[in-house]
Amino acid sequence: MSFLEYAPAPESTAILHLRDEYGLFIDGAWTEGRGATFPTISPATEKRIATISSADATDVDRAVAAARRAYEKTWSRMPGGDRGKYLFRIARLLQERAREFAVAESLDNGKPIKESRDVDIPLVAAWFFYYAGWADKLDYAGLGAAPRALGVAAQVIPWNFPLLMLAWKIAPALAAGNTVVLKPAETTPLTALLFAEVVQQADLPPGVVNILTGAGDTGQALVEHPGVDKVAFTGSTAVGRQIARAVAGTGKKVTLELGGKAANIVFDDAPIDEAVEGIVDGIFFNQGHVCCAGSRLLVQENVHDEVVERLKTRMATLRLGDPLDKNTDIGAINSAEQLERIRALSAAGEEEGAERWSAPCVIPDTGFWFAPTIFDNVSTSSRIAREEIFGPVLSILTFRTPGEAIAKANNTPYGLSAGIWSDKGAKILAVADRLRAGVVWANAFNRFDPASPFGGYKESGYGREGGRHGLGAYLTTGPSKGGA
Ligand code: NAP
Ligand code: MG
Repeated sequence: MSFLEYAPAPESTAILHLRDEYGLFIDGAWTEGRGATFPTISPATEKRIATISSADATDVDRAVAAARRAYEKTWSRMPGGDRGKYLFRIARLLQERAREFAVAESLDNGKPIKESRDVDIPLVAAWFFYYAGWADKLDYAGLGAAPRALGVAAQVIPWNFPLLMLAWKIAPALAAGNTVVLKPAETTPLTALLFAEVVQQADLPPGVVNILTGAGDTGQALVEHPGVDKVAFTGSTAVGRQIARAVAGTGKKVTLELGGKAANIVFDDAPIDEAVEGIVDGIFFNQGHVCCAGSRLLVQENVHDEVVERLKTRMATLRLGDPLDKNTDIGAINSAEQLERIRALSAAGEEEGAERWSAPCVIPDTGFWFAPTIFDNVSTSSRIAREEIFGPVLSILTFRTPGEAIAKANNTPYGLSAGIWSDKGAKILAVADRLRAGVVWANAFNRFDPASPFGGYKESGYGREGGRHGLGAYLTTGPSKGGA
């Protein structure tokens, strides 16, 4: 205990008025799912928060039918300006209920309240505001003459940014005139269910947004449903592959946002303290449960020792613990399964000879936790240099020349994001140009903006979300397919 220890500063949960049990949200109403119920827990305490329904194939059928009716009868016929008004209303309601959503997200997911409060929820509102503005301007988006909606979108999202991934999916789909059926991840359904309340508050026509909770089989039934025109998936490369196979030849439009193994490249002319902040932000933000995390640090050999030393000093100040404490930097790992995966890959790193160092921190007795960890002297062939760990674990490699940095950065089956730290603008641009990554940050990391497209190359998936490009994924200029 140091002299200047922080006092606990827990955010109150009094603002939350959760139900004990949640059903499915279909056609504007709550209904019980026909599958077995399951609990959603707080990964910090392992305590049950609420009991959740799961949707079986009949429920999926009802939800897709409701979305189809809403698409044909109301949503696709409504002038874009009116759809925009609904989206603006949703955005404002989310802002009004921001604190409640932040608390629910941290409780269900385990992420620090300062992140859900200052990053997730503000970005969620920003995404709805941004796409609300596009709803009446689709003809001017440069996506072809008279673009039209696709129809019913099946959307499946992961647990790492539950409400933000919902916003990335639902906002552009609705702006473009599609209706949606969305399945949140099994471990983090809570904010999607609260979002269904916002949909009711906003008085959206029934069936425009349907929320189906459940596990992987619910997701599978949804994406494989013949009544669906568009599939949007964010999650692992393994499941993405399965989905790509399942929809091949069906005529469904698909976007896949999958995993990553981003290089964060630090040149010797970079401002070291800023770079260290960027490294910390790159890999320890959201416990490293970030598809675009800077999980491979490529540091120029002559500054390696200095960077690693300052990084360790900085990591020793990170506070791990109660996600609802306003001083917490590192929250809980989202599930026991994910913790097991992080442990197994870290053990493999040690076996392969990398040097492991973890920040000294007290691990709470209950819940799922992993101390921020770095592996030094990692070889390019090591599993921890190639596989996505999806946790607070950084692999450190070195390079001598920009060419070597680029070759190592691109030496991965993924291609989602990258970071470059240098004092020289020309060098940054030259290197960025040769990186096979959908997003490249310069002297920054993990920055998101609704106007900026996001997505990957290679095994990181295809299609873009965000910006004008994200709109394109929900529109067509081809011949209309019956109905509206
Ligand atoms: P996951 O296992 O692929 O799950 C993602 C979603 O798909 C969950 O809702 C899951 O349900 C559902 N699902 C599972 N099997 C399915 C199937 N056969 N058909 C349809 N849906 C199915 O991934 P995760 O472990 O939750 O998330 C971590 C991964 O997501 C990481 O690899 C990460 O890189 C990636 N990710 C990518 C981005 C991006 O934008 N590129 C963003 C965030 C995360 P359950 O919840 O029941 O498993
Ligand atoms: Mg949970």
